[in-house]
Amino acid sequence: MSNHYDLISIGAGSGGLSAAERASAYGKKCAIIENKEVGGTCVNIGCVPKKVMWLAASLAEHIKNASDYGFNVTYEGLNWSKLIHQRENYIGGILDWYDNYLDDNNIDLIEGTAKFIDNHTIDVDGEQYTADHIVIAPGGFPMVPEVEGAEYGITSDGFFELEEQPKNVVVVGAGYIAVELAGVLNALGSQVTLMIRKGHFLSSFDNLLSETLTQSMLDADTCIQSNTTVEKVIKEEDGTLTLHCNNNHIFSKVDCLIWAIGRAPNTGPLNIEATDIKMDEQGYIPSDEYEQTNVKGVYALGDVTGKAALTPVAIAAARRLSDRLFNNMTDRKLDYNLIPTVVFSHPPMGTIGLTEDEARKEHGEAVKVYTSEYTSMSHAFVKHKQKTAMKLICVGSKQKVVGCHIIGPNADEMLQGFAVAIKMGATKEDFDNTVAIHPTSSEELVTMR
Ligand code: FAD
Ligand code: NDP
Repeated sequence: MSNHYDLISIGAGSGGLSAAERASAYGKKCAIIENKEVGGTCVNIGCVPKKVMWLAASLAEHIKNASDYGFNVTYEGLNWSKLIHQRENYIGGILDWYDNYLDDNNIDLIEGTAKFIDNHTIDVDGEQYTADHIVIAPGGFPMVPEVEGAEYGITSDGFFELEEQPKNVVVVGAGYIAVELAGVLNALGSQVTLMIRKGHFLSSFDNLLSETLTQSMLDADTCIQSNTTVEKVIKEEDGTLTLHCNNNHIFSKVDCLIWAIGRAPNTGPLNIEATDIKMDEQGYIPSDEYEQTNVKGVYALGDVTGKAALTPVAIAAARRLSDRLFNNMTDRKLDYNLIPTVVFSHPPMGTIGLTEDEARKEHGEAVKVYTSEYTSMSHAFVKHKQKTAMKLICVGSKQKVVGCHIIGPNADEMLQGFAVAIKMGATKEDFDNTVAIHPTSSEELVTMR
């Protein structure tokens, strides 16, 4: 095969795959360089296996609630190995599908680690490749803090390798992954402590969401240890871990410590130093609104840019880039405003737009907020209740909706449609003019007063 391409993607994750797939649909000659599994983080160690675990955890909750509906069932635990086996089989099916998909799209898969030699030449295991357009999409990796004994902990990558369900878990962190993994493990029956270094978690989310989730997690017997940081980890002779924390707190008999303190860009192996491509101090590669780096013909998108680190964002940015480069759509680019996102917590939450604090800072007196908190019908007469809470943030005389925040059962499936309306510029009046669907939880959003 000739080593010159119209487009090369570095990384076969959400972004790299999508750029090549769309370019090849326009008849372009494309290659993808990947040093692990095709599918990247999302398919192998991110969204997909996480969602399987979340679905299992949600099922466990339903089973626990079933007797309150009159069913003669009791929750008798989980066959962890079977769940993991099913999950990995499912992912295996997706990976098999990718093999055909790359062939069908005439995309060359180059297996190995991409290293730049100069601005437009990439080395993979001694072989050199060039392209008119190079898309840098190597994603990120989970960070581990610099404390003594940190290596005895695992990250989300290690979580997906667990062959047995841990009994006594400490999850350290305050973002998406910390909250999601703590929720899954707790619902599946592990004793979970969520350790956060500040007063509360999910600090970039609207307070209503983090406060409601905190209460739900406490109700479900998760221990939330705030204002605490691990200073030293000791591995004991029986294999358990002892965590020495600030304020003389000690956590002993921990059989699984999970670091979920954020992710860093995967730029180390790229040898960016051999190029003129700008990289910031944290290793992110900045790209402009057209995903263009400072070097012509070189683009960066997905997690490596430090913009919104979400799969659909990487996919959308990549597809638009190839539309622009290869289909004469000169202004095509991703609008990074109003990106909806869901945290698969227990219960899940969905959010789009400004938080109340952000809206008040930006728009002051022009802000009007509508809030609703209740127990949905699904949880009305069960012991293990989950609260639902919603907030609509409106601005100006027309009350344009600039933020929508939902937590509660099914919030994950509620937001997408509302996100369309909000992206189109819907006002509170548009919401009010929409007839409710009854009885549902989402009807609350069109009946708020
Ligand atoms: P990636 O998908 O990370 O792909 C990068 C690829 O590049 C990798 O396969 C890597 O092996 C390869 N690579 C790196 N360097 C090189 C190199 N030098 N040479 C060759 N190959 C290289 N997002 C959501 O929207 N919803 C979710 O529910 C969700 N859940 C998540 C759960 C977890 C536990 C994690 C970790 C992430 C989750 N995300 C979720 C985020 C999502 O996975 C990422 O935003 C998305 O995968 C980013 O895509 P990307 O193309 O930028 O990078
Ligand atoms: P996040 O950036 O979401 O959260 C990490 C948080 O951990 C920080 O915000 C910080 O919160 C806290 N933290 C940082 N350093 C330390 C430390 N040394 N000790 C204790 N706590 C610390 O990172 P994640 O790894 O959770 O997720 C990465 C990204 O992946 C997410 O931002 C999201 O974009 C994506 N993702 C999306 C999901 C989804 O769509 N459902 C699911 C999972 C990931 P504070 O400053 O408040 O202490």
